[in-house]
Amino acid sequence: MDLPLDSASGDLVLCNLGSGSRGNATYVGRGGRGLLVDAGLTVRQIRLRLAARGIPDGAVQGILLTHEHGDHVHAARRLADRWGLPVYATAGTAAGAGIRDLPTLREIRAGEPFTAAGLTVEPVSIPHDTQDPVAYVVGDGRDRAAVATDIGEPTGLLVEKLAACALVMLEFNHDPVMLAEGPYPAFVKRRVRGPLGHLSNPQALEVLEGLGPTLRRVLLAHLSQHNNRPALALSEARTRMLALGREDVALGVLGQYEASPVYRVADGEVHEPGRT
Ligand SMILES: [Zn+2]
Ligand SMILES: [Zn+2]
Repeated sequence: MDLPLDSASGDLVLCNLGSGSRGNATYVGRGGRGLLVDAGLTVRQIRLRLAARGIPDGAVQGILLTHEHGDHVHAARRLADRWGLPVYATAGTAAGAGIRDLPTLREIRAGEPFTAAGLTVEPVSIPHDTQDPVAYVVGDGRDRAAVATDIGEPTGLLVEKLAACALVMLEFNHDPVMLAEGPYPAFVKRRVRGPLGHLSNPQALEVLEGLGPTLRRVLLAHLSQHNNRPALALSEARTRMLALGREDVALGVLGQYEASPVYRVADGEVHEPGRT
């Protein structure tokens, strides 16, 4: 079912393999080859979840790192060694992740697009408490998808870049009340809600408000297991999109423990397998 989507079509595809503080990885590809945005799950889970969606190991031709936190880089070195993959990272991320000695490291700079696995990749600078974190906009020359998580606060640059994408994976980390009343120690609460922490649901809605007609689908990502609920984040997003007259925008929540469907972006529309 999923296999033909990736192997036989020349459309841009995106499949999240897991999203949240216990590990992140997302496959973005076209025509049977592509890239992993982050490798924060175990090698075993990455392989199992790719296989579950009909994506062969060999399709992965490189790793794009967003930042050096363990839930994003956990398996990067092992995967790069085992599969001989280039790892694309800013100098700060490479230093923070301890992979500057990796022979396949390709140093990138925020704001400077490059080509990898036949895709155009634009790293977009974001605020987060690491050395040089980025979000990624990935395109095939026709359509674009974005992976944007671990963001301290909305920025004009991020909104501008996401506005060019039909498919946006965006952090909805926490509900401010749940965070305030939740189990985290005070210093962690301050960090999470601070300008270098994570996007709250209201902040993510603020980002969505800035996006225009190109947007077709939003995948709510990196939800906190303690300080958010999928149904809450989804209903807030749905309410806001309705208020904006954008009930045409499809919404979905990404989980920590299983791969998402393989979304296909073609001619400005986003398709889910089994649906048109
Ligand atoms: Zn994270
Ligand atoms: Zn992080």
